[in-house]
Amino acid sequence: MGLKTADQYLDSLKTLKVEAHVLGIKTDEPGRHGLVAPSRQAVAFTYDAAHNPESRETLRAVSHLCKDEVNRFTHLHQSTEDLVKKIKMQRYCGAMTGCCFQRCVGLDAANAIYSTSFDCDRKHETHFHDRFRDYWSWIQKEDLVVDGAMTDPKGDRSRRPADQLDPDLFLRVKERKSGGVVISGAKLHQTGMLNSHEILIMPTMSMRPGEEPWAICCAIPVDTSGLRYIYGRQASDTRKLERDTFDVGNPIFGGQEVMTVFEDVFVPEERIFLDGQVDFAGTLVERFASYHRQSYGGCKVGVGDVLIGATELIARMNGAEKASHVREKIVEMIHLNETLYCCGLACSSQGYPTPAGNFQVDLLLANVCKLNVTRFPYEIARLATDIAGGLLGTMPSAVDLNDPEIGPYIRKYLAASPDYNVLDRMKVLRLIENLTIGAGAVGYLVESMHGAGPPAAQRIMIGRQAELDGKVARAASLLSIPEELPSS
Ligand code: SF4
Ligand code: FE
Repeated sequence: MGLKTADQYLDSLKTLKVEAHVLGIKTDEPGRHGLVAPSRQAVAFTYDAAHNPESRETLRAVSHLCKDEVNRFTHLHQSTEDLVKKIKMQRYCGAMTGCCFQRCVGLDAANAIYSTSFDCDRKHETHFHDRFRDYWSWIQKEDLVVDGAMTDPKGDRSRRPADQLDPDLFLRVKERKSGGVVISGAKLHQTGMLNSHEILIMPTMSMRPGEEPWAICCAIPVDTSGLRYIYGRQASDTRKLERDTFDVGNPIFGGQEVMTVFEDVFVPEERIFLDGQVDFAGTLVERFASYHRQSYGGCKVGVGDVLIGATELIARMNGAEKASHVREKIVEMIHLNETLYCCGLACSSQGYPTPAGNFQVDLLLANVCKLNVTRFPYEIARLATDIAGGLLGTMPSAVDLNDPEIGPYIRKYLAASPDYNVLDRMKVLRLIENLTIGAGAVGYLVESMHGAGPPAAQRIMIGRQAELDGKVARAASLLSIPEELPSS
């Protein structure tokens, strides 16, 4: 099987028997639902892009596993150049879709599991790595979408998994059967779950001795019995169900987050890649988080490109593009966005090979990247809101625009620069609204804050990775003072 086209991908999802609850209604064809369809189109774009002459080189790589050309969204990084290309691919996809295209989580999970299973086998004489190689080789050949499932509900944050009133608040092995295990629990915030073929389940945090049931990493198909999918709401999402999609903002693409419940789900042995080795749960989480923190230096930059473009366009439509304060703000937006890109490229170019052979990003720089992502998109969105003006929050609806009685008033009074069409001006305002306070803000803002861990998690990693004692030694040596100063 070669690289799938977008149509082949969409067809392949139809063969999966998946039921989901979307806005209170059970559906066995979630892809046809108005809330889900735009997110599916965004994933389909990652297939199209691998065939488009403009982007195919960026979207393709040769796999060391199956020795064939694969979609880069399934590639195990073999060099720093691969890591850099990943960032360029993500910026491109973000800029072309203006939203989260959902396919990176499985990519980041695969790279983390590949190296962690290798290290675990070496220490514990387990056999996870070869299993994972076989599994992932199949994913590459079939060109599948894999959801990376990490975030457990976690219940009372002051209690460890075993001390929770309900042990399922951290996904766990509930029972052992011949040939596999039964898992129970839930994963929240699952990006692109209903647009995936497979799920890679990982522990949510470091585990300690005694917490073996919660140190589980495994894979299951999305249509495995015992799974329940509950679709996440996004701001203004029901606009996608309106007959006229004018008010949606992003008319084609959108993101997707799903709450997923695992109710006594059987996982066969050959799909288990960590099972009770608590000393590797934290390693896996840390490696996955670093890859995903790198990812945001690509995808959020691409969406930032769209927001900056829309903001410059609305300034021109308003006849305000030459005002010095507007120029300053646009340059500031570009500066912030490119700073994020610099971070994504830096942690990639400073990557290093793992003992398993695939490449890991520089942990310190990946965390710096993500910490900036928790702030800069918010500032970019603030500047976009400033330049766009108050209409962003007050503009009449498409229904009113199409009303024969009041529509003409809207067209008359929302006209600005004569060089532009009033309807186009309204469309641009809706796109800015989508990204700053609408459905697109889930991916561009909330996810920038919490995706791949909240800012506090990055600060902890930055503190750990910074080699502070080395810096103290350098300052002390420059001044010829003893490094270990007596406490006074
Ligand atoms: Fe990919 Fe970005 Fe979406 Fe994560 S938020 S899946 S990195 S596009
Ligand atoms: Fe994410």
